[in-house]
Parts: sequence; C-alpha cells; structure tokens
Amino acid sequence: MPNIFFSMSLSQHSITALRDLLSRGAITSTDIVDDLLAQTSAHEGEVGAFLSLDADRIRAAAAKADLSLPLGGIPIAIKDNINAVDEPCTCGSKFLAEHYRSPYDAGVIKQLRAAGAILFGRTNMDEFAMGSATENSALQATNNPAAPGHIPGGSSGGSAAAVAARFVPAALGSDTGGSIRQPASHCGVVGLKPSYGLVSRYGLVAFASSLDQIGPMTRTVEDAALLLQTIAGHDPLDSTSLPVAVDDYLSGLKQGVKGLRIGIPKEYFAEGLDPAVKAATMAGVARLEEQGATAVEISLPHTEYAVATYYIIAPAEASSNLSRFDGVRYGHRAAHPADILSLYQQSREEGFGAEVKRRILLGTYVLSSGYYDAYYNKAQKVRTLIRRDFEQAFQLVDAIVSPVAPSPARKMGECSNPLEDYLADVCTIPVNLAGLPAISVPLPVSGLPIGLQIITPHLQEAQLLRIAHAVELQ
Ligand code: GLN
Repeated sequence: MPNIFFSMSLSQHSITALRDLLSRGAITSTDIVDDLLAQTSAHEGEVGAFLSLDADRIRAAAAKADLSLPLGGIPIAIKDNINAVDEPCTCGSKFLAEHYRSPYDAGVIKQLRAAGAILFGRTNMDEFAMGSATENSALQATNNPAAPGHIPGGSSGGSAAAVAARFVPAALGSDTGGSIRQPASHCGVVGLKPSYGLVSRYGLVAFASSLDQIGPMTRTVEDAALLLQTIAGHDPLDSTSLPVAVDDYLSGLKQGVKGLRIGIPKEYFAEGLDPAVKAATMAGVARLEEQGATAVEISLPHTEYAVATYYIIAPAEASSNLSRFDGVRYGHRAAHPADILSLYQQSREEGFGAEVKRRILLGTYVLSSGYYDAYYNKAQKVRTLIRRDFEQAFQLVDAIVSPVAPSPARKMGECSNPLEDYLADVCTIPVNLAGLPAISVPLPVSGLPIGLQIITPHLQEAQLLRIAHAVELQ
C-alpha cells in the first residue's frame, strides 16, 4: 500500500530488513533510531500515536545496543498499559497520567530487553483498553496514517498508527475483544492475538483477565513471527501462563497452504457487512485457494450471542480489576476528601472517563446478588457454547477465515452511541471468548485498509502465521 510518508529512510524497513543491515555492519542502531525519531518528529503532530517518548533514553539505549541478540538494536513501541520500569503507564487514563511510574517490568518487557530490543515510545489507547477507536483515550486523539480523518481503530490505536506511519517497525498491543486485530485492519498493518496463556500477562494492566493477551503489531507477517517468538513462553509470575514449549514460528513460515482446509463461517457474512469488506475477504480466500487450499462453508451457530456474552463477562472482570484504583495506592487522589469513603468516590469520579464508568456500572450490576445467575453465570455458559462451536468447526477445517470488522475505519468523531462500536466487535470477540489465536493481515485494496482475520486452533500459531504469509504474498 502506498504510504503517505514515503521516504527512503530506515523507517521504511521491516525488523527483518533492519536486522540484515545491522548484521552486515551496514548500519548501526543509532542510524535506525535517528531515522525513526526524524520520521516521528516530522509526522507525529498529524498522527498523535505516542503518549510519551524519551528521545534521550532511546538514543542512549541505541548507543549501547548488543547486536548479537535476536532483536539487538531494534526499536519497538509499547502500548501504554504494559509496565516498563521507570516509564509512565497511563492506560490512556487521567487516573494514571500525572504521577504513576512503573516500579517493575512486565514479563514481555523483560523478554524484549533480554532479546536486545530498544523500547521506543508509549502508544495511545482507549482508556484501560475499553473501546474500538482510541477515541476513549482521556489524553489525546490518534489519526489513522493510512486514512487521515478516520479512526485508527482501538484500543491499540496508537500502536497500529505508529507502525503504519513508519515511526517504528513494530509495536506491542493488547487484545481483549479485538484490540490488536481491529486497529491493525483499519491501519493496514499485521496484528496477532496469541492463544490465551501463550504470552505472559504479568505487568499488563488488567482489563478482563480471562480474555486479555499481549501480541505483536508489525508491517510483515515474518516480523510478527519474530516478535511472537521473543515474547511467547511460560512465565511463573502469571498463573494463567501455559507451561508449554514455544514452537518455531519462523522455520515453516514459507511452506505454503497446499492441502489445507479453510472454513468460511456463514454467520460472519451476515447482513450489515460492508460490500468492500466482503469483496476483499473473498479475494483473500481466493488467494489461498489459488495456492492449493480448499475453502468450505462452516457454521459457528452461537456467534449471534458473542457480543452480549462479552459485554457481560468483560465488564464484570473490569469492575473487579479496576477496584484497585481507589485513590490510595496508584495515581490520582482527590484533593480534599471529607472522609475515606469520599476519597474513594471522588478519586474515581475525577479519574475515570465515561466509558470506564459505564463498564464498571455494567460489571457491578451483572455480578450483584440476584443478577449474578441471570447474567454473569448465563454468560459463562454461553461462552462454553461458543468455544464448542470452534472445537466442532476445527474437526472439519484447519483454519477459519473471516472479516476482522464489518466495515473499514469510520471517520473520527462519528460514533453517536457506544452500542454501535460494541456491535462492530462481532468478528473478533468470539476468538477471545474461546481463547484462540488469530491474526489480521492486510488485504490488497484500493480504498480504506481492510484486514483478513485468520483463526486457528489453540496454540497453532505456526500454522496461523504460515497461512497469513500466504495471504500476504503479492
Ligand atoms: N472493543 C472491545 C471493547 O471495547 C475490545 C477492546 C479490547 O480488545 N481491549 O471492549
């Protein structure tokens, strides 16, 4: 896709290309960060991807980068809900914007540092990752570099925009109901949500703990494989982290898709699907068929309940997770509370934005006595049915392919009712409810960017990336 910021600087390169140049001694890490910082200062005013960026620290890290390591000297941007020691971690919220500095490194940050990566800027996001447009950020707006005037998607909109604008070759995002895949689709980059438990959640500020996963956002599938290789793996500090060996995501990447059976779930092509999205998705399917895959129609019959199920379970978990923001321990504290109860109330009233309050109210309601069985417990049962839909489908097919979102990025400021955005999560949410891996890979389109969602069985990331690579081939 032509990029509005095209230039021949190192900011145009993938991680793989940069590593190649570094290993041949053709460039240094300082050359890379100089180009990325120049690209960022030239265009960040129009984009607004970063909430903070410490150029001096980045330059100092580049000067002493260990190029012998797998990501030695490679800059990676970080979504602002992943803790890295001494850095801000605002979660896009006024609650944490003023005073909070991370006292520790998240699991993925330890892995990135061990691999030699350089932490670049911290990216904008919907407040506490609640949203699909980055318009719920309490701190700033982010524009879509691939479609100016349009939302970058969300909640990892700053990460997607930073990668699309060539500020960084890659970024980390987090995905609870689509927040890596949907902004990747809207900005024309690759975004992968790993299987639940494959990547450590330690140090990711929790939104809905049974759904959250951190994952890579890159410009190529190969880079997504490389970054996933670095951040995957067991972490004893996350009790839901799986004690499994990490597959090799790179060696089989180019093996092709010959003989694979690809399922097309009919429920994902329902009324309301934008014709451009449908056409692009079917062109993606055709590309796989040309390379020897077989497409078959399948059914995921409980899809229609997924949005309702998610918008009970995710707020329920959020209302519990966000109770830690009480004005005592982290971030914002009300100035003159009369007593301890008003300290909690005023701090939360002042610190949280409207969407976060809405989710806390929803979550508290569905967990309260008398409603727990009617809503929360029922939603857990439907979640099991949705997971079984996928298990049954994977008896018939190796992978499932679908749209990421029913329409391309809408214009900024054009959502009048939060329900509109909730409903647009219909293609991504079931994957989180089932704990499966999925990727959004850009499709060749002439208009607004559109991604193809590929879903595989649990822990089949190697196969997922192989199929994505076949779609990506020009
Ligand atoms: N759009 C969904 C929500 O608002 C998903 C967010 C996410 O994945 N963090 O909850």
